[in-house]
Amino acid sequence: MTASPHHQLDGVDLDALAARLGTPLYVYSASAIRQRIQSLQAALHGTDSLICFAVKANSNRGVLALMHAQGVGADIVSAGELWRAMQAGIPPEHIVFSGVGKSEQEIVEALDAGILRFNVESHDELLTLQRLAQSRGTTARAAVRINPDVDAQTHEKISTGKAENKFGVSIDEARRWFAARHALSHVQLDGLHVHIGSQILSLGPYREALKRVAAFWRELAAGGHVLASIDVGGGLGVCYREGHDHPVDAADYIATVREALAGFEGRLLFEPGRYLVGEAGVLLTRAIRVKHGEERNFLVLDAAMNDLARPSLYDAWHDIAPVGSNTHPATTYDIVGPVCETGDTFARGRTLPACSPGDLLMIHTAGAYGASMSSTYNSRPLAAEVMVDDGRYAVVRQRQRFEDMVAGEQLAGHWESV
Ligand SMILES: *Cc1c(COP(=O)(O)O)cnc(C)c1O
Repeated sequence: MTASPHHQLDGVDLDALAARLGTPLYVYSASAIRQRIQSLQAALHGTDSLICFAVKANSNRGVLALMHAQGVGADIVSAGELWRAMQAGIPPEHIVFSGVGKSEQEIVEALDAGILRFNVESHDELLTLQRLAQSRGTTARAAVRINPDVDAQTHEKISTGKAENKFGVSIDEARRWFAARHALSHVQLDGLHVHIGSQILSLGPYREALKRVAAFWRELAAGGHVLASIDVGGGLGVCYREGHDHPVDAADYIATVREALAGFEGRLLFEPGRYLVGEAGVLLTRAIRVKHGEERNFLVLDAAMNDLARPSLYDAWHDIAPVGSNTHPATTYDIVGPVCETGDTFARGRTLPACSPGDLLMIHTAGAYGASMSSTYNSRPLAAEVMVDDGRYAVVRQRQRFEDMVAGEQLAGHWESV
């Protein structure tokens, strides 16, 4: 991230930006996103591969358009994400669809759009896909999502590849699907998919999962099942806490995948989310007040859990620092938002230079699962989002107005019977 001495991002002065656009404000560095994409693409050079950004990490269409401009497709988990991706110009042949609960309506929309691939997570979904594709007179391309039963060594709420998790099917079950593949007249089942979890900070879990996937691919090949693609999911971790989190190097990660799947002649698909956007984004927020309690000092910010849910949802750590130089003595705070929940806490017992009301602060690594998870709880309008690049900025989401916040709501004036 190009936040040299923490007052500029991509050559844009953050104090001036916050003064102009207000806070809380999400700021995304376009150059940082491009660098992340390029680090993967460089390591993939010469392979038949496609990176499909996991839209749920940051679904802003401005961000998606930037992905598209760099040749990156989309990994979607809903019809809403399909719509956003296509609105951002991502072609359907660069879109894969994951998720355990795709509704019939969503499957139909994705079939009609002609997406690249469905990552199928249950036998019922497979049969539904067959039936709907048949009824539309089309053939769905599909991969089976394998649950490899490995521990991704991450927070339990973002672990997805253990047998006890709701995602994917066992290799035993997938084997039965392939054996019965000829019965599927309108599903071309010729891919494997695996995604073991998120915020993974070591290569071990990947190696373990890919070893099982590779063994299965070889077994299928020996049985005459040629696979068109293996999708290795996402999950690459990022640094939330300087000096504490040590993300794996992108080139090492790609090398690990290439080594595990050496000899595979189909296409490799990747679904990074957090890795591409997490560290590229910050949340700017102002101190509203400092409250000296009986036992603790509270620094109350104008950002809250509705803007950035990760700390309250996953006990996630985010580095938080004043923007610009602040040479005041170190003080220890609980850093909280204004929402009426004790869980509305960004950090407990965090030491910062003493802050005063009106000070601008930066919550680091907020570009992933930040704005995309936000809500209007406590009737707090959604924060603005802005992209910065080469000394300039572009607003990619206007701060929500109260009128927008209640759009679609109405008084119960007109009662009807069904
Ligand atoms: C969430 C998700 C991803 C992205 O995960 P990150 O940890 O953000 O890289 C990729 N694939 C699937 C199927 C997902 O559900």
